[in-house]
Formats: sequence, C-alpha cells, structure tokens
Amino acid sequence: IRKRFSMDLKDYIESIPGFPKEGIIFRDVTPILQNASAMRYCVDQLNDFVKSVGADVVIGPEARGFLFGVPVALENNVGFVPVRKPGKLPRETVSETYDLEYGQDELCVHADAILPGQKVVIIDDLLATGGTVEAIIKMVERMQASVTGVAFVIELDDLKGREKFKDIPVCALTHFE
Ligand code: AMP
Repeated sequence: IRKRFSMDLKDYIESIPGFPKEGIIFRDVTPILQNASAMRYCVDQLNDFVKSVGADVVIGPEARGFLFGVPVALENNVGFVPVRKPGKLPRETVSETYDLEYGQDELCVHADAILPGQKVVIIDDLLATGGTVEAIIKMVERMQASVTGVAFVIELDDLKGREKFKDIPVCALTHFE
C-alpha cells in the first residue's frame, strides 16, 4: 500500500512571465515531471477523479496532455488516445478546427481510437480558455462517445475556461488567477 500524502504543487510549477510571448505567464510543469513524489501526487489525484467519473479510455492533447494522461490511464487499467496536430497521425483521422486568440488551429485523433458508447476522460496539463478541450469534446461526441470528465493539473481561473463545458465534471489540482 502506497502512503498518501499532501503537498503544495505550486512548489513544483515554475512561472515564466513573457513566454512564449508578451502578456502570457507560462506555467511550467517540468519540475513536477522531474520529481517522483510530485508526479506520484498528481497521478494519484487525477486517478481518483477518473475513477469517480468512470472511464473506458483516457484522451489527451500533445504534448503535455500525454505526460499526465498516459500514467493516469495506466493506473486505471484503460487505454490512452493521443490527440495531435494535423499531419502527425498516420491513419484515418477525425479532426476539429478551433479558434485561437489570433487565427485557428486544428486537432486530430485516429478515427478508430474511440468506439461508440465509450466513456472518455480528457486530461491535459492546464486549462486556459478551454478551446482545446472544447474541440476534443466535439471530436469525441462525433465519434458517438461521451466525455464523463475533464481533468487538469492547473486551472487558470480568470479565463473561465470551465464555462465552455458546464455539464461535465471538471477537476483541477491547483489554481492560478
Ligand atoms: P486553452 O485551449 O486556451 O485552454 O489552452 C490550453 C492549452 O494551452 C494547454 O494544452 C496548455 O498546455 C497550453 N497553455 C495555455 N496557456 C498556458 C500557460 N499560461 N502556461 C502553460 N501552458 C499554457
């Protein structure tokens, strides 16, 4: 039996003002990845949430969604489905374009990776505007599956991203303005 402990995750998140551009404070989770206890804490907490909402599969966007999504899926004994930018996945894909602050972007998933009726939990490192997760929800629903929960290490509260998916349970392990 693994001992449960509490910790201040913010000790393992670096804040970099002006990266990747002016006006953004980048929240860097790489110190979490470098510390086994901090990573273990995140995986356990995210795992508790996934268990509580139920999942047949975990899905996460490149690149940092992979870092947390894969270990949580493994803990839950379910598979992980990668969401990628166009041109990266080699087989038939389902895709969704979404709006960025300036312009548009597109996300793709293998068309056979999610089956109709499956329960899907989305995991990413950080919730900002919610545009990324909203696009993933649309893809999952077009594949006739349902999103039972969305989970993040960090939520940026002021951006109110969670208002984009009001009917879906949201988990965030720590918060910044
Ligand atoms: P959004 O679609 O606006 O919710 O943006 C979420 C995605 O952008 C996540 O995959 C994050 O990794 C990344 N992201 C957005 N804002 C930040 C930030 N301040 N620090 C680190 N990553 C960010």
